[in-house]
Amino acid sequence: MQTITMKFGGTSVGSPEAISNVVNIVGEAVAQGNRVIVVVSAMSGVTDQLIGSVREAAAGNRWGYLSCSQKLRDRHHEVVNLLTVPGKNRGDVLNDIEILLSQHTELCNAINILGEATPRISDSIVAFGERLSSRIVAAVMRHARINARAFDAGQFLVTDDRFGSATPNWEETERRIQNALVPLLDQGIVPVLTGFIGATPDGQITTLGRGGSDYSGAIFAAYSNSDELIIWTDVDGVMTTDPRIDRRARVLPNISYTEVGELAFYGAKVLHPKTVQPILNKGIPMRVRNTFNPKHPGTLISEVAEPTHTVIKAVTAVRNVSLVTVQGKGMIGVPGIAGRTFLATARAGANILMISQASSEQNFCFVVMNERVEQAKASIEEELAKEIARQDVDGIDVMQKVSVVTVVGAGMRGTPGVAGRVFTTLGNNDVNVIAIAQGASECSISFVVDETNIERTVLSLHDLALEAVPVH
Ligand code: ADP
Ligand code: ASP
Ligand code: MG
Repeated sequence: MQTITMKFGGTSVGSPEAISNVVNIVGEAVAQGNRVIVVVSAMSGVTDQLIGSVREAAAGNRWGYLSCSQKLRDRHHEVVNLLTVPGKNRGDVLNDIEILLSQHTELCNAINILGEATPRISDSIVAFGERLSSRIVAAVMRHARINARAFDAGQFLVTDDRFGSATPNWEETERRIQNALVPLLDQGIVPVLTGFIGATPDGQITTLGRGGSDYSGAIFAAYSNSDELIIWTDVDGVMTTDPRIDRRARVLPNISYTEVGELAFYGAKVLHPKTVQPILNKGIPMRVRNTFNPKHPGTLISEVAEPTHTVIKAVTAVRNVSLVTVQGKGMIGVPGIAGRTFLATARAGANILMISQASSEQNFCFVVMNERVEQAKASIEEELAKEIARQDVDGIDVMQKVSVVTVVGAGMRGTPGVAGRVFTTLGNNDVNVIAIAQGASECSISFVVDETNIERTVLSLHDLALEAVPVH
């Protein structure tokens, strides 16, 4: 008997048809004698709507958040009415929906009165999406004679109080999953857990960051000692690039944890960047599969990094970033300037995506998201005020409208000629590379290019990845 954790994304629970597929997939796994933990996202688009309702409430637009509540009611009722029959099960879930939506209205009323939303109250509102979807998915499963029960993940997944992007408390989470969740499996229950959300030790709801349900899935898989984690989504697996950028994208039959980690970190939306963290040490295999095409085996993600003959397996891109350059002749040999710059950047709440330094030591540059670049610049200028006044540092230069394009594949460094092919390809396509960096794991190379070149860069590098993947 195996324990399998299955996470279903927003599109996978986004319509009555999709939820029927989910129920079939879980029902089949249970019928085969497996113990199944289900983790669900909010129905597609719901998290965005909830964030919108917070904004409406803070702006004093009562009609705006009430109409959001009504839309959510209609959408969730539709699923329940189509997929269950009148009776206690249906009555209970409709009642649950009503309770949650009235709490939504109350919280929005509070924001409306105060005129602003704290991160804490925002998290409580944003979490309604998963709290609603988990209840309806469990009800539809019960209708299909699966012994399912919905749970708010916060009772197991304990986090700190960094609302909006909380970090799990590993020991406490493991303890609760082992003591309170695993026994439910022993009783033959299929828990349907909310993805994306946790709670502080005193029960305040927190969220793990956008797209965080994948991370939730991995946390539950790791601490329940699952034999497998399956991320069910709306594409056949991890692909050579985002199929929305290039329709020729193909599914990779397998990829390593490290490779997929780099892909996710550098913008591939298919997985949250933190997903591999919890399962990596335990070596739990993960599959990415398609809820709408369950016959397809998907992509197997494990420790094994099978090399392909072109080395390059996938290409990804991050938009809306800026390149920050610190330069000055007086920097040569002065220790600590880079370290202080990065600390100042972190203090401004800006994550660094990549760093590059020219060998002259007269400058170094790094990439941060646009939304934080102004704060980062101000913070660095304050930190290096003395050096700037002495003209050891010329100043902090910000280049906006750039993108980071990353090629991923194990063996990037050990294989001669890969970098050469990549640069020849970029050269042949007239792409001017502004900065380059190699990932710490040595299985990726990232390039900063002008925003206007992004399509051309991705498409031309994707040709190299496609060469290595057989057509199915
Ligand atoms: P879910 O709601 O199931 O979590 P997401 O929308 O978050 O789904 O992620 C799936 C989407 O990720 C796909 O529809 C696809 O457009 C996008 N995507 C981006 N890069 C890749 C990639 N390399 N492989 C597969 N999908 C990708
Ligand atoms: N519902 C959340 C979001 O849209 C989490 C997730 O879907 O993974 O960001
Ligand atoms: Mg997602």
